[in-house]
Amino acid sequence: MIYRVNPKNGDKLSQLGFGCMRLPRKGAGIDYERSTALVRKAIDSGVNYIDTAYIYPGSEEFLGEALKDGYRDKIKLATKLPLVFIKNGEFDKYFNKELERLKTDRIDYYLLHMLTSFNQYESFVNMGVLEWAEDNKRKGRIVNLGFSFHGAYSEFIKIIDAREWDFCMIQYNYIDENHQAGKRGLQYAYKKGLPVMIMEPLRGGKLANEVPKKAREAFEAVKRGRSMPEWGLRWVWNHPEVTLLLSGMSNESQVAENLALANIATVDSLSQQELSAYKKATEIIRGAVKVPCTGCGYCLDCPKGINIPAVFDHYNEIGSVAAGKVLMAKMRYIMEMYVLRSGEPRYASVCIKCGKCEKHCPQGINIRQQLEKAAVALESPFTRVLGKIAKAFVGGKNK
Ligand code: SF4
Ligand code: SF4
Repeated sequence: MIYRVNPKNGDKLSQLGFGCMRLPRKGAGIDYERSTALVRKAIDSGVNYIDTAYIYPGSEEFLGEALKDGYRDKIKLATKLPLVFIKNGEFDKYFNKELERLKTDRIDYYLLHMLTSFNQYESFVNMGVLEWAEDNKRKGRIVNLGFSFHGAYSEFIKIIDAREWDFCMIQYNYIDENHQAGKRGLQYAYKKGLPVMIMEPLRGGKLANEVPKKAREAFEAVKRGRSMPEWGLRWVWNHPEVTLLLSGMSNESQVAENLALANIATVDSLSQQELSAYKKATEIIRGAVKVPCTGCGYCLDCPKGINIPAVFDHYNEIGSVAAGKVLMAKMRYIMEMYVLRSGEPRYASVCIKCGKCEKHCPQGINIRQQLEKAAVALESPFTRVLGKIAKAFVGGKNK
C-alpha cells in the first residue's frame, strides 16, 4: 500500500480509502458477512481510511460491527453530519446517533456533508455549527473537521477561505477535471496546506462500466490490457495534490483490483502519451453530452434556487445510461433536488424563465430551453410521487 501524508497533521493515510456507500447487499439490507470480509481484507492489506455517512442506509450500524475485534483502532474513521436533516442546529442529535451506531467515542475525520454553495454554508454557520464542532474537537469527539463539496469552483473557494479547515473532500475524476471544484479547486486547497480527499474517482461507476467504445479505443491505442477502473484510478493518483481517493467497493474482485493498484500507482507516473489518451477519451465522453455545461456556477443566483449545473449533470448522465438504469438515474435526480435537501423541490420544472442565469453563462447555453428539455427527460408524475414518498420517509425516520 502506498501511503500519503496529511500535510496538516502528519497522519500517514493509505492512498486508497474504503467508501462504505455501495457495500454488497442481501435482501433489503447490507450483507454483513460478505461486507465485513471485504472491509477487513482491505484493512489487513493496508487500507487505513474508512468513510461512511449518516445517510448511507445501514452503513454506520454495519461498520460498528465490522470494526470490532480491534479493527476500529487500525483505521481513521470518517463520517458526515447530515446537513440535509438539520433545521434548527440539532447537531448533537445526529452526531450522538452516529457515535452510537459506529460504537466509537470519536470520529477521526468529520465532514459537513454535501455543501454546494457559500449561502448554504452560511445558513449552518448561523445555526452555530462551527462553535458546536470546535467544542467537540476540544472534547476529542471530533479529531479533524472538514466538508464534502458538490458545487461550483467559485463557491468552493469562498468556503475554503472562510475558516481554517482540517481537510476537504471533492468530486474528481478525469472527465470532471474542469468541473465543480475541479483541478483549480484541488490546487487551491493544496496550496493552502489542506489534505484533499477525492470522492467519485470513477464517477459512481460510470468510468468503469459506461465508457463509450471510441473512448476505450483511445486508451487501448496507448496501452493495451488496462481495465477502465485502472485508467480512472491511476489518473487521480497521478496528482501530487491528492491525499487519498475513496472507492465505493462492492465485491471481492473490486477490492482485489484496487488493492493491487494502490500498491503501484504513484504520483506523476503517467506518460505524456497516456495523459493525451485521457484528453481524447474525455472529449469523446463529453462530446456525447447534451449540454456543454462546465459547472463553473456563474449562473447559480437563481431566484428559484435551481442548482443549474447539477440539473445538467443529471440530464447529461441520463443520455448515457443503459435502458435498465434510467429509473435509478431519475431517482438520483429526485433525491438530490428534493429528497435530500431542505425545503421545496428545486426541479428543472420550477424555472420561471426569468433569464437571469443566461446573462452569466460563459458557454452561451440557452439555459431556459435546456432546463425545459431536462425536465421532460428527468421528471415524470411517477418519479415526483416517489420523491414525495421518499421525502416523507426520510423526514419521518430522522425526526
Ligand atoms: S431562468 Fe429559470 S433557471 Fe434561470 S434564473 Fe430564472 S428561474 Fe432560475
Ligand atoms: S450553465 Fe453556464 S454558467 Fe451555469 S454552470 Fe453551466 S457553464 Fe456555468
